[in-house]
Amino acid sequence: MKFFVALSTLALVTAASACGDAHDHVHDSPGVLRKRLFPQAQLTKPTRALEWGDLNIIHTTDTHGWLLGHQHLSFPEPNYSGDLGDFASFVEHMKQIAIEKDVDLLLIDSGDLHDGTGLSDGFPAGGIDAHETNQFLKQLPYDIMAIGNHELYDYINTWDMHTNFAPALNGRYLSSNANITIFDENNNTVSVPVGNRYRKFTTRKGRKITSLGVLFDFTGNDVNTTVQVVADMVKEQWFTEAIAEEPDVFVLAGHMPVSYDNWPTVFNAIRAVHSETPIIILGGHTHIRDCNQPDGRSMALESGRYMETIGWLSAKLGDSSNSNNITFSRRYLDQNRVTYEYHTQQRNHSFDTAEGQNITQGLQALSDKYELSTLFGIAPQDYTISRNPYPSNGSSLSLFINEAAPYSLTFNNTRKNTTNLMITNSGSQRFDLYAGTFDKNDQIAASPFLDAFMYIPNVQLGTAQQVLSALNAAGADERRKRDLGSILQQREDELWKRGYVDRRYMNWLDEMDRRHDGAVKRASQNLTLGYVTSDSCPGVGDDTLHAPLASYDIPDFIGSDAPSSSNDTLIDFVFVDFIQDQLLEILNDVQNTTTYTDSDVESYTDVLSNQVLGLYAQHAWN
Ligand SMILES: [Zn+2]
Ligand SMILES: [Zn+2]
Repeated sequence: MKFFVALSTLALVTAASACGDAHDHVHDSPGVLRKRLFPQAQLTKPTRALEWGDLNIIHTTDTHGWLLGHQHLSFPEPNYSGDLGDFASFVEHMKQIAIEKDVDLLLIDSGDLHDGTGLSDGFPAGGIDAHETNQFLKQLPYDIMAIGNHELYDYINTWDMHTNFAPALNGRYLSSNANITIFDENNNTVSVPVGNRYRKFTTRKGRKITSLGVLFDFTGNDVNTTVQVVADMVKEQWFTEAIAEEPDVFVLAGHMPVSYDNWPTVFNAIRAVHSETPIIILGGHTHIRDCNQPDGRSMALESGRYMETIGWLSAKLGDSSNSNNITFSRRYLDQNRVTYEYHTQQRNHSFDTAEGQNITQGLQALSDKYELSTLFGIAPQDYTISRNPYPSNGSSLSLFINEAAPYSLTFNNTRKNTTNLMITNSGSQRFDLYAGTFDKNDQIAASPFLDAFMYIPNVQLGTAQQVLSALNAAGADERRKRDLGSILQQREDELWKRGYVDRRYMNWLDEMDRRHDGAVKRASQNLTLGYVTSDSCPGVGDDTLHAPLASYDIPDFIGSDAPSSSNDTLIDFVFVDFIQDQLLEILNDVQNTTTYTDSDVESYTDVLSNQVLGLYAQHAWN
């Protein structure tokens, strides 16, 4: 994937992965849910019924190809074991309930459909990422879908959205500030919106809605795509004209976090013209659950990631002639059939709609076509990126660099008998590994990046170890200095603009654990693991109660166990090419004997980073 090539050209001090991931299954294997039966893991029911208003919204965001849901049996995965077919059935029942209640119900998505699972990324040569999964998303009755940054890393993906997806959405796919450059009928290049800039429509109950699809100030996009900064977008003539006429409600979708980003720029531009018109914002990108109210007549909701969370927002708009505060509600639903059946008052045998079943079957067929269930081995336990300390037996970072890489990289390698130290970036691991089957799809989820391993021969062991510490000190330093407005802050900002969200997501988990006495709640074992959300909206947001996930700080760079040799032993210093520039810089910093350049670096193995876990699983987990 070109996306990864683009990232490796960035000379970073910190290294993290961008948002995205993968996995699914539908087979009878140990540790995997057999999914068309009622879920076998004991799922907790929602705490209470949803509050309906006269305008109601179901919200998805950052689905990243997880359309067959999360199928492993270790918690929290079963919380998210629904699939897009289940979701489609849920939406259909909810639409019926809305008709019975005689209220409006909209369905909205805030972008990032690409990069995440075998379903989106496991296509054969010549295919286009997420092209097939998008055929299923098209079947849902979305009123608005907004473009995400993952639709723009590769021109071919943007082109597919422009020529295939947007036309099928027929005016409902919005890209207010994202363009694609194409040839017009006279073979001249023109820059045009990927979808539509905005949409004005009238609901079933006759409400007039004006909607947008805004992308944050993203700069990691491919050539021949353009992202206009939000501050400039609101000065465009089309924007002024689009918001001039007062609708009953502004419904602003966008791939932009509802906290600490540019929604206020859009909000204030509208408020300058319409001081009291209700405004609903549906954001995304940081993969967290979040909500706030910019004023008494508005609410902004962000609904998580990876088909884990379904967002619910309702507004009692009442009589539009007054300017009282509006009563809003919001809820974060776990994405599973127990939740869906609870809120639609359906039973397991009555829940599935024909369309929902078709979608599930179609996705399973796609999984079969891509051979995503190809088994590498049976994982003996869970391994997590940040829910276990690093290093530890439960750390997937330890598993990768201490167990898997030393086996997989030396396998069939003439350097096998030379002592080595191996280094990679922790951001190379994208998703946790769970006990049970470890298949092609799990591998794409956990470790998708196509990075090569390089080495420098005859480096002193002590020097190599110093490089690892210095790399991590540089990263930690950078975070410490975040508030000082230094040049390092600029680099952190640069990472953010290019779409790196892991740090914010992990900070969110960290705060969740501390604020909610995670250790105590987990020890009591009354609750299953899951998200426990604190946001700025009134009342409890989570639909189902959980004990918060554990969270540990992880280093930016990880190294294999040092061989028990003296510091002056000459070793092969092995590292992933993604970090080569930083590593050489630091290597020349910590010693004066040799000036190392790119010409000292050689290829270590043909095995790429995305193959390391699979090769290891075939060897150790069979
Ligand atoms: Zn995302
Ligand atoms: Zn994103």
